[in-house]
Amino acid sequence: MTPDKKLPMREKMLPFAPPDIREEEVTEVVETLRSGWITTGSKVRRFEQAFADYVGADHAVALSSCTAGLFLSLWAHGIKEGDEVITTPYTFAATANVAIHLGARPVFVDVDPDTFNLDPGRLGRAITPRTRAILPVHFAGQPCDLEPILDTARQRGVPVVEDAAHALGALYREKRIGSVGDVTCFSFHAVKNLTTGEGGMITTSDAGLAARVRVASLHGMDRSAWEREGTAGAWRYEIRFPGYKFNMSDLQAALGLPQLRRLDESQRRREEIACLYAKALGDLPGVTIPRLKIPGKHAWHIYPLLLDLEHLRIERDQFIEEMRARNISTNVHFTPVHLHRYYRETFGYKEGDFPVAEDLFRREVTLPLYPRMTDGDVNDVIEAVKSVVRWSTS
Ligand SMILES: *Cc1c(COP(=O)(O)O)cnc(C)c1O
Repeated sequence: MTPDKKLPMREKMLPFAPPDIREEEVTEVVETLRSGWITTGSKVRRFEQAFADYVGADHAVALSSCTAGLFLSLWAHGIKEGDEVITTPYTFAATANVAIHLGARPVFVDVDPDTFNLDPGRLGRAITPRTRAILPVHFAGQPCDLEPILDTARQRGVPVVEDAAHALGALYREKRIGSVGDVTCFSFHAVKNLTTGEGGMITTSDAGLAARVRVASLHGMDRSAWEREGTAGAWRYEIRFPGYKFNMSDLQAALGLPQLRRLDESQRRREEIACLYAKALGDLPGVTIPRLKIPGKHAWHIYPLLLDLEHLRIERDQFIEEMRARNISTNVHFTPVHLHRYYRETFGYKEGDFPVAEDLFRREVTLPLYPRMTDGDVNDVIEAVKSVVRWSTS
């Protein structure tokens, strides 16, 4: 179709996911800059403790990213060359890349069309004697159905490493994500529900695993500089093994602490916006809204709208251009990992391998959703969606 010429238009482009940085963060960062200690130190320790308390986990280890957390979680479980790691194709590539970094093969399991999440019913068939870990992703903030995944994993004696990059604030039944599985990895990348610019955290109830990840995140040193500071023989440390450099700095933690204090308030606003979208778009022919499928709480990191293409005379990409023409930024989450060129060429994956994920991808448009959106902004998005649907069905 030729572009719509008569557009209802807000004055300025609505950004997709700007960070929510307030005066409290600025103050905390400036204090840290003036404190004389800017890398891993007391602020990181406080952030870890506050985070563990928030999700209800025994241990939390702050890292440079969620990717580092996923990598170290697999590393700590001894994943190596020749192993297989089961995950979902409907994720950001980092989830599968980390298996490859350790020499393992990422094995994908197609998703549930209602949730975009790894379908536990298909899990059994993907397991082989080489399976060493299962890595589910709580897509958009919708918790995976963890019980059957954990059951399958326990029967096979393999760990479940959760990618909770989208799921800070989500509940699985009555438990917070981060307190359910074996090890859970969170992201504080700029667009996530809590941001430290870049950063990540793992939570676990396994003290030994937390200790291994901590040491591995800082060169394999037995004592960090912060732990040695001011003690006799502070200069002395030992390398237990050649570790990595995945620690979080106090500057990052200074951003995280006030954001964590504000998290419940931010999550309430996210939920409010999701409710406004649901009310306005839930019955609109041409689109399908996301809905929480199991008891618990959605973290509403993103709002993945599905286009019912048989209803519309345009494809997803043109829908996005029409939203842009109405000054609304949208996005697409995600190109299924198996369709990326490297994955096709290296592992032989091809179009058609995971039809549910591929169908969702063809139809997905992510609407803006962040605490700083005003009701007016939300309304502009709603009106733009309705207008594009109206135009593309006329
Ligand atoms: C953002 C994201 C990651 C990576 O997080 P980083 O902190 O940037 O490493 C991993 N998985 C998913 C699903 C993500 O959205």
